[in-house]
Amino acid sequence: MKVRVDRELCIGVGNCVAFAPTVFEFDEENKATVLDPSSVDDDILLEAAESCPENAIIVEDDEGRLLYP
Ligand code: SF4
Repeated sequence: MKVRVDRELCIGVGNCVAFAPTVFEFDEENKATVLDPSSVDDDILLEAAESCPENAIIVEDDEGRLLYP
C-alpha cells in the first residue's frame, strides 16, 4: 500500500504517530510525514488512517486505487 499525508489538512494531533510510530513521525512543522509504510500490517495502516480526525492520511493500493478516505 501507498500512504501519504496531506500537509494542508494535517493539524498535528498525532493519532497516527501514536498508532503507528514506525510509519509516521512529526517534522519540524509538527506535520506528520511518512517513514516506512511496509513496517506494519495493512490493517494497522488503515486503522491509523481512520484515526486521523482530519482525514489527512491517504491510502492507496499498489495500483493507485484509493482505499481511504
Ligand atoms: S492523525 Fe492526522 S492530523 Fe494528526 S498528525 Fe496524523 S495526519 Fe496529522
